[in-house]
Amino acid sequence: MIAIGSGSAVSVLDGWLRAHPGSRAAVIDKDAPGGICLTRGCIPSKLLIAAAEVARTVQRAGEFGVSVTAWQVDFPKVMERMHQHIDPEIRAIGESLRHASDIDYVPGPVEFTGPYTLRTPSGESIHSERILLGLGSEPHVPAIPGLAEAGYLTSDTVFSLRRLPPRLAILGGGYIAAEFAHFFSAMGSQVTVVGRNPRLLPNEDPEISETVARSLGRRVRLLLGRAPTGVSGEGRRAKRLSLPAGAGGREEVVEVDEVLVATGRSSLSPLLHPERAGIRTDPAGWIQVNEYLETSQPGIWALGDATGGHHQFKHRANHDAEVLYWALVHGRRGPVDYHAVPHAVFTDPEVASVGLTLPEALARHGAENVLVGRYEYKDTAKGEALGAEEGLVKVLVGVQTMEILGAHIVGPQASVLLQEIVNLLYVPGRSARPLLEAMHIHPALNEVVQRAFLSLRPLPSGSSAGH
Ligand SMILES: Cc1cc2nc3c(=O)[nH]c(=O)nc-3n(C[C@H](O)[C@H](O)[C@H](O)COP(=O)(O)OP(=O)(O)OC[C@H]3O[C@@H](n4cnc5c(N)ncnc54)[C@H](O)[C@@H]3O)c2cc1C
Repeated sequence: MIAIGSGSAVSVLDGWLRAHPGSRAAVIDKDAPGGICLTRGCIPSKLLIAAAEVARTVQRAGEFGVSVTAWQVDFPKVMERMHQHIDPEIRAIGESLRHASDIDYVPGPVEFTGPYTLRTPSGESIHSERILLGLGSEPHVPAIPGLAEAGYLTSDTVFSLRRLPPRLAILGGGYIAAEFAHFFSAMGSQVTVVGRNPRLLPNEDPEISETVARSLGRRVRLLLGRAPTGVSGEGRRAKRLSLPAGAGGREEVVEVDEVLVATGRSSLSPLLHPERAGIRTDPAGWIQVNEYLETSQPGIWALGDATGGHHQFKHRANHDAEVLYWALVHGRRGPVDYHAVPHAVFTDPEVASVGLTLPEALARHGAENVLVGRYEYKDTAKGEALGAEEGLVKVLVGVQTMEILGAHIVGPQASVLLQEIVNLLYVPGRSARPLLEAMHIHPALNEVVQRAFLSLRPLPSGSSAGH
């Protein structure tokens, strides 16, 4: 078996090797071993966000009557702490791959030369009739004149920064942009977010996006509905982004020290050439799979980010790996189950969501069939104690069935609070009733979740779809 990508695909390959003693496998990765989540994604970014949370707590200390007279961010130390956590893990994975007696570890990019044959950078040919494509994805970089010459960071390179940029522009308005905006502003950078979409976090429920934009917008300059037409400045000089006049504002030039591009993710298919192997991709290059994660070429499967779609998250890649593990190792072929893929955005305030947004629920079920519950953190004891002024839980439930259709949380610990709702989505009927009936600890933050469900009511006629 061959795994291309050393993230979630490797767990399938490990299981397969255990079940087939004496066989050989290859793990191929053009980058540091361990996959994007560990090397330049979830884990390093959350180590940085943890530092941002400490800084924000100190910044807010005065609100609680705690005076902090002298404090400063030691940026190199923040970055070093992150590396102290991930680097040994990356090294350990590399060592175990290099020393495994039944695995050939190929540290470099490979491409298909035929259906089951790959070429390594040294020109060697590897053949297998069982191949897992766990390619991940890469930062999408828009074609903006002057950007390449001026130089820019992406989520692939930002973790190597050693010096805090005093002024930083972040291009993009999705979750990676929102997380880095929180991090760098908490560290002390002057951050400007330039997003083409008029909404920050455009995939979230509109009320949640607005809440984040309002709150983050106090610490970060948000230029939304704007796209730079050019960037000037080379090397170490300041970079100037030209923004034409538009619905989002008048013409202006934004001068910064660094530009971080976070404008979405692209497929890595152009490097792999799946077409030479008879593997179909969609027009954007994402590998096409059926519900069993089988590609158009028998014996070749794809999982995780490589297949595109809305759920490019590590927990989804792990779910895919589990589906393939049961199919390939135990012969229990089953479909993927994406009916309730939750996600979180670790910005400030934190966001977590599952299921349909309000506009989606109205479009799919009709306003008369949807109940909406909404509760603010500050109206619970714990939310008030935390000073969570803008926290909000919004839940959508079917009228007759009490089936949970969607849930959206913005505020402290949103990702933790959401999970009790997600769990109900994995129970037959997906009913909200257990949440209404279960005794909730007082005064814990979860009370805000229960009260959102207790406040379920029909939408007032004529209310806007977003609220
Ligand atoms: C900044 C950032 C923050 C994130 N935060 C979160 C988060 O908080 N929570 C969350 O759930 N998800 C998060 N993600 C997403 C998460 O990292 C991905 O969904 C996950 O890593 C995908 O796993 P995978 O197994 O599909 O691919 P991975 O194994 O992670 O990556 C595939 C590897 O294959 C390599 N590869 C591709 N093509 C070839 C080739 N032809 N030859 C050799 N090697 C190749 C790639 O370079 C890559 O190293 C984040 C991502 C980023 C960028």
